[in-house]
Formats: sequence, C-alpha cells, structure tokens
Amino acid sequence: MIKVVALDADDTLWHSESRFQQTQARLSEILDQYAPHDQVQAHLHELEVRNIKLFGFGIKGFTLSMIEAAIEISQGRITAPEIHEIVMMGKAMLDAPMELLDGVAETVGLLAKDYPLFMITKGDHMDQYNKIGNSGLADHFTQIEVVMNKDVAAYREVFSRHDVNAEQIMMVGNSIPSDILPILELGGHGVYIPYHVTASFERHETEPESPRYRRLSRIQELPALLQKLNGG
Ligand SMILES: [Mg+2]
Repeated sequence: MIKVVALDADDTLWHSESRFQQTQARLSEILDQYAPHDQVQAHLHELEVRNIKLFGFGIKGFTLSMIEAAIEISQGRITAPEIHEIVMMGKAMLDAPMELLDGVAETVGLLAKDYPLFMITKGDHMDQYNKIGNSGLADHFTQIEVVMNKDVAAYREVFSRHDVNAEQIMMVGNSIPSDILPILELGGHGVYIPYHVTASFERHETEPESPRYRRLSRIQELPALLQKLNGG
C-alpha cells in the first residue's frame, strides 16, 4: 500500500534543465574562438563534477564553473565583458519565470486530495525556495525538503524524520540516479518520468529491473497508476 507520494521538483514539476542547456550553448558561442563546442562542454562538465562537493548543485555553482571553464579554455584571454556576460547569464537563470510542466498543477491538486505529498529536491536553498514560492504549488505539499544530495542516506534521513516507512512511499522524478535508485534500494516505489533533456550527471544507461519500478511518459498518468497499485 502506497501511503505517501514524494515528488522531485526540477524537470518533474517545472522546467529547469532546458535552461542550463541553453546557457551552456551560449557559453560555447562566447568561447567559440578558443575551442570547439564539444571541448567546451566536456571541460565544463568535468569542472562541474569536480566542484559539486564544494559548491553543491545549483545555478550559483554552475555559474562559477562556467567562469572557471572560460578562463581555462581561453588560457586567461577571456575579457572582462565576456565574464560579465557569463555572470549575467547565471543571474538570468536565477531570475527566469516559473514554468510548470504540462498537467502539473491539476495532477498535484488531485493527488493532494488523497495522499500526503512530499517534495524532495536538491540545489541552492534560496533558488529552490524561490521557485517553490513562485510555483503556486507549496500549499499542496505536507513536507518540502531541499537536500544537499539525493542519495540513500538523504532519503533515509528525511523518511525517518517524518516517521514514514520507505516501503509505503512512491518517489516520482526525472532522474534515475537521484530519484529512482535510492528509493528502490530502501524498499519503496520509484516512478520515472523522463524530461526531454537530462543533465550530464543525472544520466543513467539502463532502467532498473524491479517490480517496484515504473516508467510513465506524463505526470497526468500518476493518479491512475496509484489507484491501480493500491488495488483500485
Ligand atoms: Mg529533477
């Protein structure tokens, strides 16, 4: 019996990664005279992975990694106006309008009538809480958790703090490593709803093989799945 529905936020409830990819494409244009696109993206990815343990996930850390990449790729020849543009790109991402994914407002409203809803997301606290406020969805959630990293330990800590049993939780999200694998390991249910683009560090080659794993194409399919799994 599933008693709690937990939802990821970025690229599950609202658009996020498409903005990172647009910004990365613009970074490649700025650095075009120093290195080809693929090399810029590979170096940025390498820096992001290396910097995550210092900066955490989120736009501020991403912006610093873009600046670091620009200085290294240009071997120090990047100009102050170009660095300024990169900073402004990061600020524009933080200030971008909230865009919910299709069907999210209705589906979350529907689910909230029948289940306690948890939002479990990672990233900069200020950015995540700004987005949660702008989403208009906060009132539907009984718990909102912004964690440093979405691993087994983080989920276990959240569930135990709220005194819920992992086996009675369905976690829904667009990342197999962050939203699905940890909940399956803890004995809960994982529902993967892919977004049209995936961040480089959220990619996963294969889908899990577990009777507690499901893949849906749209969030609107969630209420029917819950009804089916809970025996109508
Ligand atoms: Mg996500």
